[in-house]
Amino acid sequence: MPPVEEKTIFEKIINGEVPADIIFENDIAVIIRDINPQAPIHALIIPKKRIDRIEAAQNGDAELLGKLLIMAKDFAKSHNLTGFRLVINNGQQAGETVPHLHIHLLSGRPMAWPPG
Ligand code: 5GP
Repeated sequence: MPPVEEKTIFEKIINGEVPADIIFENDIAVIIRDINPQAPIHALIIPKKRIDRIEAAQNGDAELLGKLLIMAKDFAKSHNLTGFRLVINNGQQAGETVPHLHIHLLSGRPMAWPPG
């Protein structure tokens, strides 16, 4: 997919231009509550650096991507979540709607496999 130039909703949230329920923030990312939760706990781990989607990530993003996963498991631990699912949707066919890389963290209900 081609790169998208205009600001996404996530950049506006990161910049404080649009309000969001920010659960956690550090120098590299924010964790917010999803506005349309698909599980009792549905958080989004969003890097402050704009990477459109995982297919656009570069080798130089490896450390950042690793840190996002560490943030996700730290979030799960701090919320006493023993079962949780991490999801990255890449491309419209996979359900991507915001072209700014993010990891969904879903928990609080049983989950089926394969996912729909
Ligand atoms: P995607 O479909 O791209 O994998 O995930 C985008 C997610 O962002 C969706 O789950 C959607 O509900 C969430 N989302 C879209 N707009 C907003 C918003 O303005 N605020 C918050 N908190 N979440 C949003």
